[in-house]
Amino acid sequence: SLTIGIVGLPNVGKSTLFNALTKNDVLAANYPFATIEPNVGVVGVPDPRLDKLAEIFGSARKIPATVDFVDIAGIVRGASEGEGLGNKFLANIRESDAICQVIRVFTDPDVVHVDGKISPADDKEIIETELILADLQTIEKVLPRLQKDSRLQKDKIAVAAAVQQAKEVLEAGTTVFAAGLDPEPLRELHLLTAKPFLYVFNVDEEELVNETLKAELRELVAPAEAIFLDAKIESELIELDEAEALELLQSLGQEESGLSILARVGFDTLGLQTYLTAGPKEARAWTVAKGATAPEAAGVIHTDFQRGFIKAEVIGFADLVETGSRTEARTKGKARMEGKDYIMQDGDVVEFRFNV
Ligand code: GDP
Repeated sequence: SLTIGIVGLPNVGKSTLFNALTKNDVLAANYPFATIEPNVGVVGVPDPRLDKLAEIFGSARKIPATVDFVDIAGIVRGASEGEGLGNKFLANIRESDAICQVIRVFTDPDVVHVDGKISPADDKEIIETELILADLQTIEKVLPRLQKDSRLQKDKIAVAAAVQQAKEVLEAGTTVFAAGLDPEPLRELHLLTAKPFLYVFNVDEEELVNETLKAELRELVAPAEAIFLDAKIESELIELDEAEALELLQSLGQEESGLSILARVGFDTLGLQTYLTAGPKEARAWTVAKGATAPEAAGVIHTDFQRGFIKAEVIGFADLVETGSRTEARTKGKARMEGKDYIMQDGDVVEFRFNV
């Protein structure tokens, strides 16, 4: 499955956040390189539609879609020069499908900042620079060959041009993602900065409602998404029951925990969407890539479903809620029979018909 790599300078709150994400008990250590081995945390994507489905179908349990987060060891300046931790850091990023940088905004004087000051723009640039340098190395290795090949092989012309363009963008200090270049012709290079980015700003709790600050930080990272949370609060929230957690969130002017937002935004950043199945046993959200066809969606449940796919009965979530039951939806003509070319839409409630 697709994963999001969590990166950031030391002491920005990565471990605190990651522990909250996984609810596991690894102690957040107040020193660099505390997290050398990457860990994976599987997080449920909050989806209120499942509550509604469980209500309609009397489902015994609700199973949300999930996102995998990988905690990647602290970066050091010079990572792209491939020394020790640096090498490992880049290899771990290469395996991730999206990059989530945690940036420190909280001010606690008891927690040392590696650069001696709080500066989100600098933090962002330090990480970006290492990734950009690594990508430039990759490009320098393949570009001469590509240019040579493109003289004889027509299909290489577009790729060579795209790589040349990426090189210029990177040399100007911009990531391939931020420049909005088409990642498709660059795919074989596995460039680090072609992956989608998102940013978590770890702010003091008072700043969660500081709209001016948030607007500035959003602008800093656009077109990437920005998420604002207080990692310490998040680690407290997971210890509370639902009512207490809601109370704490409301006292901070928040409607939803930072982790919930991160799971949702992360899921979206990975280019994923969900379709839904429901019955008395369970209401469930399944993960497919945006643009997936009905047989591909069926294959997520079981490969046999894809192989033997006949058709899918699809009811839009809103139509199901409006009609109140599958039977009513059918009667009112809201249940559609879709064939193998159907492109799944987010929130489709589906029953597959297949041969076994
Ligand atoms: P990492 O090196 O990026 O993994 O950072 P850690 O999660 O280990 O955090 C470093 C230190 O900062 C720890 O002492 C944390 O308790 C503290 N810390 C993390 N997040 C916050 C926060 O939001 N506010 C405050 N005041 N301290 C935090």
